[in-house]
Amino acid sequence: MTQAEKRIELFKKHVFMFQNKLGFNDVEIHVLEQVRPDSKASWNSIKSNCQISIFYSKSWIVNPKKLEEVTCDIIIKTAFHEVYEAQFYRIYELLDEKYNENLGLEEIHMLVRRAENTILPIILKEGV
Ligand SMILES: [Zn+2]
Repeated sequence: MTQAEKRIELFKKHVFMFQNKLGFNDVEIHVLEQVRPDSKASWNSIKSNCQISIFYSKSWIVNPKKLEEVTCDIIIKTAFHEVYEAQFYRIYELLDEKYNENLGLEEIHMLVRRAENTILPIILKEGV
């Protein structure tokens, strides 16, 4: 396994681990490579289908110039961020239907940031 494959596997493994630990089991999650690498990772949901896609940017996760900067801890934290945020997919969909824009997105993002400092350390301490 190459270094790049290892890093992608680390991300994938943690997406499913966090899905399980958070009890977020009413959806099917697919981990895919992001087509437009304008952010390090992202997620989207397929309306009323209980399917979530979580994307990683290959140029972020395996950029040889960033191997030291993008540590395993950061990859794990990013996986957590996306899974945790994706739990709000119905709220995103409802906001989108009602207002046709991503109102509230920033507010949810802030709650996810908070969870990175509170819930994530507890899950990591518990282990798999
Ligand atoms: Zn976010």
